[in-house]
Amino acid sequence: MARLTFYGAAREVTGSCHLLEAPAVGRVLLDCGMHQGGDAVDRNDGDFGFDPAAIDAVVLSHAHLDHSGLLPRLYRQGFRGPIHCTGATAELLVVMLKDAAGLYFRDLERANLRNARRGRPEEPPAYEWEDVAAVLDACVGHRYREAVPLGPAGTLRFHDAGHILGSAICEVSFEEADGPRRLVFSGDLGKHDSVLMREPARLQSADLVLMESTYGDREHKTEEDTLAELREVLRDTWRRGGSVMIPSFAVGRTQEILFHLGCLHQAGELDGWQVFLDSPMAIAVTRVYDHWLRLLDAEDVKTLSENQRASLENFLPTLKLTESTDASMAINRIRKGALIIAGSGMCTGGRIRHHFKHRIWDASNTVIFVGFQAAGTLGRLIVDGASTIRMFGEEFVVKANVATLGGLSAHAGQSGLVAWLGAFDPAPRTVLVHGEAGAQKALAARIRGELGIETEIPGRYDSIEF
Ligand code: ZN
Repeated sequence: MARLTFYGAAREVTGSCHLLEAPAVGRVLLDCGMHQGGDAVDRNDGDFGFDPAAIDAVVLSHAHLDHSGLLPRLYRQGFRGPIHCTGATAELLVVMLKDAAGLYFRDLERANLRNARRGRPEEPPAYEWEDVAAVLDACVGHRYREAVPLGPAGTLRFHDAGHILGSAICEVSFEEADGPRRLVFSGDLGKHDSVLMREPARLQSADLVLMESTYGDREHKTEEDTLAELREVLRDTWRRGGSVMIPSFAVGRTQEILFHLGCLHQAGELDGWQVFLDSPMAIAVTRVYDHWLRLLDAEDVKTLSENQRASLENFLPTLKLTESTDASMAINRIRKGALIIAGSGMCTGGRIRHHFKHRIWDASNTVIFVGFQAAGTLGRLIVDGASTIRMFGEEFVVKANVATLGGLSAHAGQSGLVAWLGAFDPAPRTVLVHGEAGAQKALAARIRGELGIETEIPGRYDSIEF
């Protein structure tokens, strides 16, 4: 019997981490992600719930930190196996894990200064830089559809999930005493009409499907409607004499927004705006995207090259990349027409909070949300209509307009998820992960009605056998 245990992203959206155990593959961890929002700090510093030293290999669906962020801790606690991922994911991880470690060590230093002032003992780091380096060394990059040996007698294949650069649906095949098994882990599935990304690959055969359900209760607007909405928001903000702040995930959302803004510029619709990519990490990630253009949607890459700018970094010639803190702070002096893209995506940290400090209390400005905001994050509070927020130990009134461009989501909407699952024939046993309870319930009902599959929704630490 093969066993699958859910250690995260169980009835929640972050902390993706599932353990597959079978004689033919050994102990394989599917993702090793951080928790974000709510009680995230405690849960990231806590025990894994299994022995990291006993894990034989990690299979990583994509580079987002809620799928990869705990890898340095895993290594610190004794994991020494290979980390299988796509080549592009391996390259993105260099940027992601180093950035995350930098933030972590800075926060830890501050916390320990507070501890010292209160006479409390110093908190030791959960990992060191050498663990980050070891994790990056352990990454093995593979091509899509390549057959990768896994454990004593298993095979792993990655398929394009269309979510972010390098994102993968993970297919694990192996033999059990009573016959073959095939597990398909969706990772995060992309939206079918998103720019830059290809369509998520449709697979047809599986005994068990582990599917994400982030937007299980929602449909997205089309990319075209979303672009129209973006135009409208920019026009309104310009008329009010304001500026725009876009909290953005460094990987995926930022590059898609840059592509859309590039298209608006080519159409002469961005005249007067000063666009800033105010995130050293997003700048680095955009360069990784430029390195792997061959993995992106062919039509969109053609659009880049038709404008003699076969790179995202140059598609919008007026784009200003602000890497230094001084350059970032200089943006504060612009009163009207600044369009600022900054992290973090859910406003839990990063430069976006400094821009909020300078602008969120002014009704002429606009905040545009372009990605999922997990429960408990500052971004979610603002989306849910908070009239005041607290940052840097101060209270700020939220007077800026708040717009949500759901159509720019990196995730499939309800119909997209159902269509992807519907491609399997015969209908597989299906487990929903990576979704909040309401979204999972709605998706389960639609799947039951349309595909006749009774899905399972495990809680944290639940196990199933297959
Ligand atoms: Zn993701």
